[in-house]
Amino acid sequence: MADHDVIVVGAGFTGLAASRALIEAGCDVITVEARHRVGGRVESDFLPDGTRVDTGGQFLCRDMVNLVEVAHRHGARIVRSSTEGEQSYRPAIPPEAGEAIWDGVEQLREKMLALDMSDPSLARLTVGQWIDRQTDIAPEITGSFRRLVKGLWCRAPEDVSLAYLVSNDRRITNVYPELEMFLGDTMHALAEALAAPLGDRLRLSAPATSITMMDDSIEVDINGQAITARQVILAVPPVMARRIEISPALPAPLQKALAAWEPGCAIKLLIGYERPFWRDRGLSGSVIWSDPQGMYAFDTSHDAYCGIVVFLGGPLASEWHRKPQADLVAFVIGELTAALGDDAAHPTSTCMRDWVNDAWSDGAYSDVITDLDAADAEDVLLEGLPRLHFACSELSPSFPGYVEGAIVAGREAAKSVLAALGHRQE
Ligand SMILES: Cc1cc2nc3c(=O)[nH]c(=O)nc-3n(C[C@H](O)[C@H](O)[C@H](O)COP(=O)(O)OP(=O)(O)OC[C@H]3O[C@@H](n4cnc5c(N)ncnc54)[C@H](O)[C@@H]3O)c2cc1C
Repeated sequence: MADHDVIVVGAGFTGLAASRALIEAGCDVITVEARHRVGGRVESDFLPDGTRVDTGGQFLCRDMVNLVEVAHRHGARIVRSSTEGEQSYRPAIPPEAGEAIWDGVEQLREKMLALDMSDPSLARLTVGQWIDRQTDIAPEITGSFRRLVKGLWCRAPEDVSLAYLVSNDRRITNVYPELEMFLGDTMHALAEALAAPLGDRLRLSAPATSITMMDDSIEVDINGQAITARQVILAVPPVMARRIEISPALPAPLQKALAAWEPGCAIKLLIGYERPFWRDRGLSGSVIWSDPQGMYAFDTSHDAYCGIVVFLGGPLASEWHRKPQADLVAFVIGELTAALGDDAAHPTSTCMRDWVNDAWSDGAYSDVITDLDAADAEDVLLEGLPRLHFACSELSPSFPGYVEGAIVAGREAAKSVLAALGHRQE
C-alpha cells in the first residue's frame, strides 16, 4: 500500500500548479523540492534597501491567460512596463534602420514558422544551418535573427535543432509584447502564494535522488528516506530529470528523449538608479546589442524601484560565466552608459544572478533540444510511464519556456494523474 496518492518532485510553477490541482481534486499529495525555497527558475533577491526583485522569471503579457488568472486570484499587483521613448541600439544605428532590421527578422521568423517540417531537405538541420541557407536575405537580418535565437533560446543557433525551434516557437503565440507586464511584488512572491496552501505537504531541501518503480506503487528516495505513492510527477526540466537514478532502467526511447536536451545559458542583472534619467532624453531604456550578440536591456521601473534589467543569453553568458562577476557588472554599466548616457555610470544598486550550470536547473531560460534525431522527444516524454509523468515548462502545449507554460504543463500533468487514479473529471 502506497504512503500517498501522488508525489510531485519539484516546486517550480509546474510542480506547484500540479500539486494545487491535485489537492483541489481531493488527492493526498506530497511535493518535494531540492532547494530551500519554492519557485525554481522563478526566484528573488532583496536589495540593500529592502526592495525585492525578481532574479529569475519576471515578465508576463495578457496572452498568458492562466498566469494572469493565477496572479489575479492571489491578489498580485500587475505593473505595466514602461516602453515610451526610443529604442537604443549598440553599436548605435538610426532608429529607422533598427526598425527595418527588426521587420526583416520578424519576416524571417514567419518564414521559419511556416516551414513544412516533413520536407526531407529540412531533416536533421540545426537552426544555424537553416540560417546559412537564407542567402537571399541581407546579412544584417540573418545576423539579427542569430542574435534573437541566442537571446531568447540562450544557445548558439549552431547547437539548436531546427525541428525543435519551429515546434517551440509555434506555441509562443503572444500578440502582446512578452515583456508587457510584471508583478510589483515579484513573480517569486506569487510562487510562494501558490505554495502556501500546501503547508506541511511541501518538503523543502528534499532532493529526489532515485526512483524505483514497483508493481503497485512507485518509491522516491529523498535524502535517504523512501516514500511511496501510486503516481509520481517529475516536475523538473529534462536535464535535471536525467540526473535522477530510475530503476528499472527507463525504456530506450525515454532515455533517448531525456538525453536530447541541453540547458540554455543565461545571466540576469538588475541595475538600479535614483531616477529614470533615460526618459529625459526620449529613450525607452530598452537597448538591443548586435555586438556583443545575446544582450538586451529593458526598463523595469515601478513605484518602488527604478532600474534596468539586462539579460545575457547563449555563448555570451557562457563566456562571462567563466569570468569574475565584478567584471561583468562593470562591463554592463559601461555598455548602459554608452547607450543611455553618463548617468548610467552611477547606479544605486546592482544585482546579478548567473544561471549557467545552476545546481538545480543547470541553466535557463529553458532546456532546448540539440539532438537532431530526436524530433519526437517531447511526445515520448509526455507519454511517460503508467506511474511516472514528466512535466515542465519545456513540455507545455502553450508558451513552453515561460511561467505560463509551466502552469499549463502542471495542470495537464495533474489531469493525466487523475485519469490514471481513476478520478472522474469534468
Ligand atoms: C533569468 C530568467 C529569466 C526568465 N524570464 C522569464 C520571464 O520574464 N517570463 C517568463 O514567463 N518566464 C521567464 N523565465 C522562464 C521561467 O522562469 C521558467 O520557464 C519556469 O519558471 C519553469 O518552471 P518549471 O516549474 O517548469 O521548472 P523549474 O522552475 O526549474 O522548477 C523545477 C523545480 O524542481 C526542482 N528540482 C530539480 N531537481 C530536483 C530533484 N532531483 N528533486 C527535487 N526537486 C528538484 C528545482 O529546484 C526547481 O525548483 C525566466 C527564467 C530565468 C532563469
